Amino acid sequence: MKAALLYEGKAKKVYQSSEDEHQLVLSYKNDATAFNGEKKSQFEGKGRLNNEISSLIFQRLHEAGISTHFIKRLDSTQQIVQKTSIIPLEVVIRNLATGSITKRLGIKEKVSFTPPLLELFYKDDALGDPLINDEHALLLTDITETELAEIKDKAKEVNAALQEIFQSIGIKLVDFKLEFGRNKDGEILLSDEVSPDTCRLWDIETNEKLDKDVFRQGTGDLITVYQEILNRLEVHV
Ligand code: UDP
Repeated sequence: MKAALLYEGKAKKVYQSSEDEHQLVLSYKNDATAFNGEKKSQFEGKGRLNNEISSLIFQRLHEAGISTHFIKRLDSTQQIVQKTSIIPLEVVIRNLATGSITKRLGIKEKVSFTPPLLELFYKDDALGDPLINDEHALLLTDITETELAEIKDKAKEVNAALQEIFQSIGIKLVDFKLEFGRNKDGEILLSDEVSPDTCRLWDIETNEKLDKDVFRQGTGDLITVYQEILNRLEVHV
């Protein structure tokens, strides 16, 4: 199924598919990193959980009419996706204030954003993924103004669909990060992953954190909370 390793990131390995030149195999790793790679650890089972969670979520997004790179889950830790060239932007949507925005702008924890707040970061590890504005995004990437508007609209649609999915399993979607890529036909597709590594997910009743913050802050067991997300998705989605 897989041929050459094309790229190894912090959480996934990306292989060329041996069956189709326009497809990739994403292989989810057990590594967890935080604070731009400063904190690192390994968790047996994390790759499987994120592969299964992200696969279920992409299927649901597809059903909601949102075009993504996802084709199918291959096995417990791998999935097949359309090959896209990733646009080096991290698109963050926030429904509630927490994390970097509270420190950067002094906004109080849990203030709710209506409409949801969209932020752009430049995907560059060496620069520490800085916050950028639209003009920077146009300067630093090859996207057009129309494509930037399209990316923002899609991110907001994804937010609405994800809020509904998580609400149905008793979870508040606090914030999340998306990446987009261009496929062989020039279409812009939601790419990368949607998982507890890239979303903040709080239990609606208890406010318990069910995402990577338990690792970032050392407040809980990553595998237990990721398994909880998968269990709820499997039962209700
Ligand atoms: N996020 C991510 N990858 C990054 C940075 C952020 O997936 O490199 C996600 C993070 O999990 C959260 C949202 O984007 O759901 C907003 O993160 P924030 O800017 O608050 O950064 P943090 O406080 O994690 O540094």
